[in-house]
Amino acid sequence: MLELNAEQIQMGRSATDKLAALALLADGLVSEGLVAPGYLGGMLTREAQGSTYLGQGIAIPHGTPETRDQVFHTGVRLMQFPEGVDWGDGQRVYLAIAIAAHSDEHLRLLQLLTRALGEGDLSQALREAQDAEAIVALLQGAPQELALDSQLIGLGVAAEDFDELLWQGARLLKKAGCASAGLANGLLQGEPLPLGDGLWWVHSEQAVLRPGLAFVTPAEPLRLNGQTVHGLFCLASLGEAHRQLLERLCDLLIEGRGAAFSQATSSRTVLEALGGDVPADWPTRRVTLANTHGLHARPAKALTEIAQAFVGEVRVRLAGEPGRGVSAKSLSKLLALGAQRGQELEFSAEPAIAADALAALEAAVRAGLGETLEPLPASAEPPALSVAATLSAVPSTPAKLQAPAAGARLQAVAAAPGIAIGPALVRVPQTFEYAQHGQGLVVERQRLATALEQVDADIQRLVESCDDVNVRDIFITHQAMLRDPALREDVEAHLAEGLGAEAAWLAETEAAARQQEALHDALLAERAADLRDIGRRVLAHLCGADSLSEPEEPYILVMDEVAPSDVASLNRRRVAGILTARGGATAHSAIIARALGIPAVVGAGEAVLALAQRTELLLDGDHGLVRVAPDRQTLEQAEREREVRQQRQQRAHAERLRPAITSDGHAVEVAANIGASEKTAEAVELGAEGIGLLRTELVFMAHAQAPDQAAQEVEYRRVLAALDGRPLVVRTLDVGGDKPLPYWPMPAEENPFLGVRGIRLSLQRPEVLETQLRALLTSAEGRPLRIMFPMVGGVEEWRAARDMALRLREEIPVADLQLGIMVEVPSAALLAPVLAREVDFFSIGTNDLTQYTLAIDRGHPTLSAQADGLHPAVLRLIGMTVEAAHAHGKWVGVCGELACDMLAVPLLVGLGVDELSVSARAIALVKARVRELDFRHSQALAQQALGLESGAAVRALVEETR
Ligand code: PEP
Ligand code: MG
Repeated sequence: MLELNAEQIQMGRSATDKLAALALLADGLVSEGLVAPGYLGGMLTREAQGSTYLGQGIAIPHGTPETRDQVFHTGVRLMQFPEGVDWGDGQRVYLAIAIAAHSDEHLRLLQLLTRALGEGDLSQALREAQDAEAIVALLQGAPQELALDSQLIGLGVAAEDFDELLWQGARLLKKAGCASAGLANGLLQGEPLPLGDGLWWVHSEQAVLRPGLAFVTPAEPLRLNGQTVHGLFCLASLGEAHRQLLERLCDLLIEGRGAAFSQATSSRTVLEALGGDVPADWPTRRVTLANTHGLHARPAKALTEIAQAFVGEVRVRLAGEPGRGVSAKSLSKLLALGAQRGQELEFSAEPAIAADALAALEAAVRAGLGETLEPLPASAEPPALSVAATLSAVPSTPAKLQAPAAGARLQAVAAAPGIAIGPALVRVPQTFEYAQHGQGLVVERQRLATALEQVDADIQRLVESCDDVNVRDIFITHQAMLRDPALREDVEAHLAEGLGAEAAWLAETEAAARQQEALHDALLAERAADLRDIGRRVLAHLCGADSLSEPEEPYILVMDEVAPSDVASLNRRRVAGILTARGGATAHSAIIARALGIPAVVGAGEAVLALAQRTELLLDGDHGLVRVAPDRQTLEQAEREREVRQQRQQRAHAERLRPAITSDGHAVEVAANIGASEKTAEAVELGAEGIGLLRTELVFMAHAQAPDQAAQEVEYRRVLAALDGRPLVVRTLDVGGDKPLPYWPMPAEENPFLGVRGIRLSLQRPEVLETQLRALLTSAEGRPLRIMFPMVGGVEEWRAARDMALRLREEIPVADLQLGIMVEVPSAALLAPVLAREVDFFSIGTNDLTQYTLAIDRGHPTLSAQADGLHPAVLRLIGMTVEAAHAHGKWVGVCGELACDMLAVPLLVGLGVDELSVSARAIALVKARVRELDFRHSQALAQQALGLESGAAVRALVEETR
């Protein structure tokens, strides 16, 4: 990340004009080895497109996207020009910050920089600064302002004693982002200070995020230490930010004007007295920003120009953020907002100019502020408020569905291996209807307390009756969450605002769950599922619905369809198996289920949703079989089978580090598919001979914003280090179709699976691909690196991507590099004889290859069950690819889900596939399966399969010969 320090600053420079200054700055960047000399051209072009004057005597010259390839390293160099340089439009620059950046890293610097610029003008101080440290101090030293606005004032709040009042003040500070949960404790620990007139003061530095002052008055006067309490100031204290305000408050009290606070009926009176942010009764208008890179310099500048055309104040803030916002006429303030695509801007303007100004601003933002816009996805619109919550709970089964009878045997799709036995927990969406507003604080508080108590008691019964220590721990965690004072604190606050118990409870549990999820940590995501669990239980109680209490023993989760996020957030210790009405084996949810080791059968048909809760189910995830309420004999047989498979798994596990060589000496490499760098060590421990597919889009998704080169290098180095010399096959970013990247907006397409995705998209945004390739090559450091491009459909795509990699390789030498493609599109398989001359290897992505060959969407709710990779049409394409590759001495891997299908392994080996790349958990079994094979026999079997008519026929053939 770009940072400022004194070494980067040259003091006391002079330049006759802007051109001379830019040349000096470019020289500085070149001599520091940050850019090539051609970068100056980019800086000049950039100035011609629009001045880089930032305000307050500062300019931030930088290159254009076209000259990013002239940047060797990201960095900044600063020059002070005490005499000033004319930057055009009458603006004088005393400090120029020249930026060399590969991508948009400088936006972050801009945001930091502009946040540091205070209301006053820095230009004089920058001009007069005597040393570099003084400049750094000026740029970074703006003190944080004390937050004090209407949302920090709570008048007439419900509080039965002083502590409760204090706690309401802490809540306001927390809500305004001034503090985290520990503030209330900190305030309670301090000694309350009486100020006279029934006013009190408490402060704490504990858990403070930014300085803020809240003022609360109780609905009824309270008593503390024998004195009256009419109002309480709660200070979240940080540094000296509050000093001025405290002095002002003391003056007011000395002047005898305490009644302005103790008898205040409007927050405006309080704020006016204290000089806080008085809410202006100005008209406002909201509009969603759709610019790809948010409100960066150019669109922000366009916005200031529109605002400046109006005589009067125009302000803007991010919708929902506290405070009055910033002047829309100030470029630096606008940049400091850090507004991103999809965020809503709220403009306000003085009543006299509001109608015209707001209309002009809204129209300009909608038109893109001089940039071409890509439409926002529908979900980017702010959600409408709803009074109903749709949650998973007791199903309201559609009347027409007939549940499968006891003893029924359902054949569906095998999605994740293993046998699971347990009671069904059927989850279908149910809508709880409730009023947003309740019957008053006292009633709603009581209703909620009763529901919480009852749910707590229900869970206590489960804790007491549960033998499994792991499951008991989960229930104990649920209880702890129910009793969490911070959660209750926040819910109570909503009740005090007039919300009903249901709305208040749901709002807080949902918000808490979302916060957990945002941390992108699998364990914390499980906590989010727990929070939703207790959220649902209590809500069901409040709404008088039957609570969907989870069975005590591990259960089989029955759902219509599971989203990948559902699976990822499942509590693995509670869910023995997954059964869905819809979905297919290569859907990402199934891939995740496999990675988590949860047996899953999908696409069993809607009737399973009509199963009664707790119906005993037997699930065979290897064969896609479901038995409903099986008889004792079937259960015993399944348990025996499970035992056999477990033993097999244990044997395979013990042998996991041995190579996979058929009985007649044919070796097959077995590698792992991963989507997170930290999974590498585990994969190696589970027997991986390398990483056969690193899905880098998943690595990208784990970052809140596109990781820059340095951040990517950290990820790739982590993988390479854990591999300890084993090969790494990396797939470059595969975005589009079923894999959206939240921060990479894409125009809506009629048919995204056939649209701009995979390598097509990367070639349209070459700077992203280039950064990724640079990061990969830089990280290799002599270790074996194989890079492959996704969704290649033709020779031109391959060549364009290869050429970029080869060009970069000249700059960043890599000793052991191979370049290849994924074969996922039938045209690539059909063209394999041509491509094989140029690539170093192929890796067959059977998930997509099957989808495109059979024209069945792999995530299609009802059809994907038929998308069988063992269809002879797919096998023929695999066979062609292998034949072409081997004719040119190249190797072929299979990294689609077919590679871990035990029935497919003999056929893939028989077709000559050299490497199988599977989820880490499947490695030991795949290796064991290969060791059981006879290569010659497998070859004959594969040839036979190619002549069959359907996937089912192929499966039957392999079953027979087992
Ligand atoms: C495939 O398509 O087979 C593949 C491995 O890629 P993904 O599943 O990530 O699309
Ligand atoms: Mg694919």
